[in-house]
Amino acid sequence: MMDWKVPLADLDLTGAETDAVAETLRSGWIAMGPRTREFERQFAEYAGVRHAFAVANGTAALHLAHLAAGCGPGDEVICPALTFVATANAALYTGATPVFADSRSPDDFNLDPRDVERKLTPRTKAVTVVHYAGYPCDMEAILSLASRHGIAVIEDAAHAPGAALGGRMAGAFGDLGCFSFFANKNLTTGEGGMVVTNNDEFAEKIMRIRSHGMTTLTWDRHKGHAYSYDVVEPGFNYRIDEIRSALGMVQLRNLDANNAARKSRTDRYRTLLQDVPGISIPFESAPGKSAHHLFPILLGEGLDRRGFMDGMKEKGIQTSIHYPAVHLFSLYRRRFGHAEGMLPVAESIASREVTLPMFPTLPMESIQTVADAARAVLPQCREST
Ligand SMILES: *Cc1c(COP(=O)(O)O)cnc(C)c1O
Repeated sequence: MMDWKVPLADLDLTGAETDAVAETLRSGWIAMGPRTREFERQFAEYAGVRHAFAVANGTAALHLAHLAAGCGPGDEVICPALTFVATANAALYTGATPVFADSRSPDDFNLDPRDVERKLTPRTKAVTVVHYAGYPCDMEAILSLASRHGIAVIEDAAHAPGAALGGRMAGAFGDLGCFSFFANKNLTTGEGGMVVTNNDEFAEKIMRIRSHGMTTLTWDRHKGHAYSYDVVEPGFNYRIDEIRSALGMVQLRNLDANNAARKSRTDRYRTLLQDVPGISIPFESAPGKSAHHLFPILLGEGLDRRGFMDGMKEKGIQTSIHYPAVHLFSLYRRRFGHAEGMLPVAESIASREVTLPMFPTLPMESIQTVADAARAVLPQCREST
């Protein structure tokens, strides 16, 4: 492993997480128990939703959300191409077809509601939005078109725990909201996730298919609430465990402070990079409150991104790309006949985006280091290859 001077991401785990995990281990009850129930209760309260279900990972949350929304063979789900592949794969798992819509602009990477409208067909069952880097999508436009056309709204809020728009939390706008607690996310349990909803019927379905399609749970039987169970559909084992729920509750307590630390680091980057020729910074005037999960920049047309990232690497600075456009992965090209040019805005962003280091404990001096490095490296990246 390379020893980075400035890594892309880093954990902020304190003694409190260690204590919570140790206490859970000592309790002798490590799966499906009171800590998970309490983590779900706290998360639901934080997000302002009626129901929250902790699950094995964000991908499981997305799969459950698509199933709860009734997606299946013959259905279409509109989603962005500028996202992690799990967003679209979740539709595929159910037998539905992901239909990709474009990003709005080089300043707003999020889904363009007008392109969503264009991609609607009588088979459209749902639209999945992603709050890219933690910046809320235009939910007013998405919710309005969804209600006009009678389709479900699923929020992939993997980047956006704690983000909000007009006083409502990201993940609480749609019919279903999905969160990831993977190691590099704003709230982490190592692996983990949460699916939230205000819909009682969806909640019941999610609870069941999270656990094999069984009608009662181990915990209820342990508490003497239930004697046996039935299985009504082929569910999954997408449960989280008590160890990670205990960890998650500590992380949830720290989330707002960590998001605020990400915001001050974002502000610092913006100040230091605003006048660097060849770099533009998206979400300049984004509405609402971001969770500042990532700090993305866009290189100017014709600049050599590979050369830029290599130059940064030579200076000990780790960078990344969020994301290669999903519709152009081999799987999606082969299965759906996709080709370049389908989504001009998302494709242009995908070819020019670079993600700079961002995490709550990133030292302010390191941001200066990154900005100085970018300024020094860029002039050598004039040639596009
Ligand atoms: C991380 C992520 C996921 C998947 O979450 P996992 O917990 O890794 O399964 C889905 N969508 C987006 C946008 C993500 O960033």
